[in-house]
Amino acid sequence: MAINKPKNRLSAQAYIDGVLSGNRVILSRAITIVESNLESDKALAKTIIQAILSASGHSMRIGITGVPGVGKSTFIEAFGKHLITQGHKVAILSIDPSSQRSKGSILGDKTRMEALSTLESAYIRPSASGDTLGGVANKTAESMLLCEAAGYDIILIETVGVGQSETAVHGMTDFFLLLMLAGAGDELQGIKRGIMEMADMLVINKADGDNIKKSALACQQYKNALHVFPESDSGWTPVVTTASSTTNTGIDAIWNAITQYKQLTTNNGYFIENRNQQQIRWMYNTINNELKQLFYGSKDMAEQLTELEQKITSSKIAPIKAAQDMIEAFKKRYE
Ligand code: GDP
Repeated sequence: MAINKPKNRLSAQAYIDGVLSGNRVILSRAITIVESNLESDKALAKTIIQAILSASGHSMRIGITGVPGVGKSTFIEAFGKHLITQGHKVAILSIDPSSQRSKGSILGDKTRMEALSTLESAYIRPSASGDTLGGVANKTAESMLLCEAAGYDIILIETVGVGQSETAVHGMTDFFLLLMLAGAGDELQGIKRGIMEMADMLVINKADGDNIKKSALACQQYKNALHVFPESDSGWTPVVTTASSTTNTGIDAIWNAITQYKQLTTNNGYFIENRNQQQIRWMYNTINNELKQLFYGSKDMAEQLTELEQKITSSKIAPIKAAQDMIEAFKKRYE
């Protein structure tokens, strides 16, 4: 295969040194390498990640989700500023599988989090683009390691709140925060139970003005609803609270709860156990993705599959036989 190496690349050591010294420009360039689909960049990315690995991990990783319009970016701006005032360095990443950066996705919109983006202690990176959620999630997870190695001690990973991306974010974070809105009596309808079950904290957002009473009521209803959920392995009882980014209410209480969560799960061993399990799952997910890519990625396999589809629909071959034949053909390629 012809190696098409872009000219503006630095040496691996230059990326590694730059990231470890907290150089934001180099951090951004290193993330670009991690996000790249070029073979030469993939090799470079592996070297960089391997080298910075021992400097990563020292952060609180927080996933934030909620339907579009719930106030995620406004919340992250208020929350991020609060954390920075406390002396933290905050990196904000996002997972949006629908993102095509050139087309300007919702999460890639540069006008979002404008005030936060000007702060020295904040680093904001829009979602990687990619064909599959697995691919995008992997890129975000590696970007997270780079941010940690560059000294960011709080990582906020935002997701668009539609579809499967919540599971991906949950799979790479320590704490999962779900933003919700107080509805008109149908608070429990809009959000999937599975996502609520993943949440360590539910925040009824926009609890200001005319919304205060409704939000307090919704808060109580969610508290009651959570009682029927199975107990979490973390030993943590999910917190339900209200907040407003506009009036800056409830933001500090959210951070206090996250700090308590970290203390509890560090003491009972869950924090590290959860991270270990995430790492192991990450390996298997990568193997699964790469295997699929190897299997389906080549042109001749695709042609054979199309042929087999026709044979199946005209009853010339049983589906299971077709599958076995394909696996045999695949194995032969590597003999
Ligand atoms: P996202 O799509 O979840 O990122 O939501 P945005 O942060 O873009 O917010 C959607 C809309 O809700 C915007 O018009 C915000 O000004 C408004 N909004 C966000 N947070 C609050 C809040 O705490 N209170 C009120 N009243 N409005 C808010």
